Order: sequence, then structure tokens, then C-alpha cells
Amino acid sequence: MSKENIIELKGIQKCYDDFVAVKDFNLEVKKGEFVTFLGPSGCGKTTTLRMIAGFELPTEGQILLHGKDISNLPPNKRPINTVFQRYALFPHLNIFENIAFGLKMKYVDVTYKNSKGETIVRKEKLSKEQIREKVKRVLEIVDLEGFEKRDISTLSGGQQQRIAIARAIVNEPEILLLDEPLGALDSKMRKEMQIELKALHEKFGITFIYVTHDQEEALTMSDKVVVMADGMIQQIGTPEEIYNEPNTVFVADFIGESNIFSGKMTGKKKVCFCDAEFDCIDDLPAGSDVDVVVRPEDIEMVPSENGQIRGTVKNVNFKGIHYNITVQSGENEILLKSTKHVKVGEKLGLRIEPNGIHVIHAETDINTYEGVITAVDKVAFADGEFDCDITKLYPGSSISNNNLYDMDGNKINVIGNSVTVRVPISAPAMSDDIDAGGTKGHIASLIYKGDHYHYVVRTKSGENIHLRDKSLWNENDYVSVIIPKESIDLSLNAEEAQDV
Ligand code: ATP
Repeated sequence: MSKENIIELKGIQKCYDDFVAVKDFNLEVKKGEFVTFLGPSGCGKTTTLRMIAGFELPTEGQILLHGKDISNLPPNKRPINTVFQRYALFPHLNIFENIAFGLKMKYVDVTYKNSKGETIVRKEKLSKEQIREKVKRVLEIVDLEGFEKRDISTLSGGQQQRIAIARAIVNEPEILLLDEPLGALDSKMRKEMQIELKALHEKFGITFIYVTHDQEEALTMSDKVVVMADGMIQQIGTPEEIYNEPNTVFVADFIGESNIFSGKMTGKKKVCFCDAEFDCIDDLPAGSDVDVVVRPEDIEMVPSENGQIRGTVKNVNFKGIHYNITVQSGENEILLKSTKHVKVGEKLGLRIEPNGIHVIHAETDINTYEGVITAVDKVAFADGEFDCDITKLYPGSSISNNNLYDMDGNKINVIGNSVTVRVPISAPAMSDDIDAGGTKGHIASLIYKGDHYHYVVRTKSGENIHLRDKSLWNENDYVSVIIPKESIDLSLNAEEAQDV
């Protein structure tokens, strides 16, 4: 029998004014699981955690605890505690007092029999002895027994973190939320604490929901990882599933190192990328545009004549146990890991077994927008205005004196008509001259695909423009986007089309 869900998030959305921080979030967490929200800064991890804790209310959707809706329950009424990155320990209190702080406020039900033999339940504070016992027990669990009288300032970062955890678990929550709890520690201490936290999780049997932007941390500790981007879940799976079977290029790129190539299915379980054809396991229709993910450790170096791909070694970096080797093959750069040493300039062949090739449907090859005609040669979309050939919408039409005429010379009123705009992702170009293009935005993401980068430029209202560029730009760069007039395809929306 499967374990019961302790908490469920159903269709959760969180908006701050017009900004949607979390959308369409659905998740089931089993009792005792270690679940990690993983994603880049600003993707909505903390907001989701705060909704579970009750510090934020969802704009839409439900949070169920043991099947009961707790969406509107205040934080102190939820059997949930949170450990923050900044441990929020009280510097003027010693360790005992820090841990006991919450317990002193706590009331518990105590049952008595009155003189008539009736059972009465009274709410009472915990006794000093009970508090001392509970503090002692949690200090033992976090391996800091005997530290009761020490000052917070005398503790290392890792010890302070363990006190913060002790303080959270002393209240015996059913769920412990941990928001980047190791973020303030140096990398060695962080690694030690990861192991300790995992061990503590096993000792407590409490459900952990953990937030991090560190993929290694998520893979090391979790039973289940929820990969997030832009307020949405990208993939939910075990660490092995999200590493070996990423379902989007974003996940493949974010989790571990990977080569991502643009490719095409050429037959049944056959895929072409890097100018070569490979057998693969994924069965997508022949002719489909795909993204191909190959982990560097799944590429084998062979003599040049035996290679499916041939190339020249461009870079070799020693990494302790293995080398990171970059091979240039035509326009593609391929990263592989090997314990064998090779020299820069050496010619070699590369082989990839079918189970080392992971094929994903290509994300987007056309950008689609809702637009409005603003002049006889202009359309507004994606928070900007672009030159377009409107005459293509009305066969036989022509422009004269800033008016559009049909083939019989009748004026067509087009201003304000709504259109669907399609732009292939190969068409837009970025410019750092902010006024050069029709719209502007920040680079929201970039993924290297062997011979080019796939960029997403996000405009101020959140429209995405996917484009390709061979040069490396930085995430968050503010750019303008130029789209050549001839690559903008327009079609009239239903109502306007009836009038043509
Ligand atoms: P980080 O790893 O940097 O903490 P995160 O994934 O936890 O990021 P959140 O803190 O959940 O991200 O924020 C998600 C988005 O919501 C961000 O763009 C943030 O600016 C926005 N946001 C969060 N809280 C508020 C608020 N109170 N008002 C307006 N916007 C907010």
C-alpha cells in the first residue's frame, strides 16, 4: 500500500499585483519524505514554502494537510516549522533558552479526573522539568549535548545551524520546512551539514521540505526533487530520474553538466546531431525537431576512424580524478569526461551508445504572440512595435499615402485589428543598442547547444522571445530585439478575418 500524502498542493497560484510568482503548482508529499524545491534565484521556491508555512496565502488553489484544506489557517495553527537561511537565533539568549523559547509559549492538553470522577481537559503550560527534558533530547539528536549554557556567539556556523534545527524540531512538527538552511556556510561545512541533515531526517521521521538553488545539494539529500523555473514546476522526480531522464532542456542544463544539441529524428529510433546519425532509445516521429542531451561521461573516445563523430581536442582540464575534454567537431563543441589524457590538437573519434542519448521534443521553434495592427506597416506585440508587411494579410492590397487599399482601390481600415504573429526562433537578433530593435527585455535564460546558444529574452510584461545566437551574452543583460520585417508572419484573428 502506498504511503499517505501528508501535504498536497493543488493548482496553487501566487500573484503580487500583476506579477505571477507561482503558477499551476501541483504537488503531493508523502509522510516522511525529503522533498527539495530546486531552481534558480527568483523561480518561486521561497514563495511556495511560505504558502505551506502560512506566511503567504495562495491567490488560487488549495493546500491540504492530511486531506483537509489548511489554505487559510494561520502559521501557528499548522503543525509545521521553518528553518531559515539566517538562523534567526536570539543572540542575547543562551542555547537552552533559544531552544526552550517556543516551548515556554506552548500549551498542552492535560487530562484530570474531578471529584465526581469526570474527565476534564485543561490547557496548561509545560513544566520546567518537561521543557528541560525536551531540550536535552533534541540537543542529543543534533549532537550538541551539554551545550545548554553556551552563548550563541561561541558557536561555529554549522553548530548554530544545528541549534536552529533543534529549535524547530523541539516543537515536534509534522513537517519541517528548510529555506536554504546551509546558504551561509562555507562549502566544506555545507557538505558536512548535508550529510548530517540527511541523517537527522532519517532519525526524526519528520517530513522535510527543503529549498535550494544548489543542484548537487538537491541530488545528494532528496527522495524527490521538484525542479522549478519561472514560478512553474519543470519536473518532479527522484534525483536519478531528473538526472538521467530530464524532460526539458532547462532541467538537463540545470542538473549536472550536459551537452545539448539541436537534432532531427531521421527514422525509427534514429536521430541526427553533430552531422552524424545515431541509434537512440527514444521513439519520436521521423522528421521531428529535437533537442538531444548527452552527459559528458557517456561519450567514449576512440581512434578517429572508429568515431561516429570526428573532431580535434580543443581544451583539456584536469579535475582530480578525470579530465574535462572539449572536442571541436565542425561547428559543434562537445564536452566529455575521461580518465585518459589526450593532447590539445589531437584528432580523435567519439562514440555514444544509444542509452547515453536522451532525446527531447524541441521546446519551441516558433515564437507566437497576440498582436494589434497599429499602422498600415506596423504591428504591436511582445511589448513593442515592429515594421511588418500588412499587405500580405489582404491579397492584392497596396499602400498609398499611409492608407491600405484593396485591389479595387477601396480603403481598408486595419488599425486596431488583432492578429496572431509568428516569428521563427532563427529570425530575431539581439542588440545592446537599446533603441535598435522593436522591443526590449532581459535575457532570462541561455542554453548552449553545441554550435549556438538558445536565448530567452523576457519583456517587461513577461512575453518570451526565443532566439539563437552564436555569441555568448550574459543572463540578465538588457537588450533590444530586432526582428526582420520579412520573417514576421501574420494571420488575422477570427473576427477580423470574417470582414476580409
Ligand atoms: P531565491 O533563491 O533568490 O530566494 P526564490 O526561487 O525563492 O528565489 P521567491 O523568493 O519565491 O524566489 O520569489 C519569486 C518571485 O516573486 C521573485 O521575482 C520575487 O521578486 C517575487 N516576490 C516575492 N515576494 C514578493 C512580494 N512580497 N512582493 C512582490 N514580489 C515578490
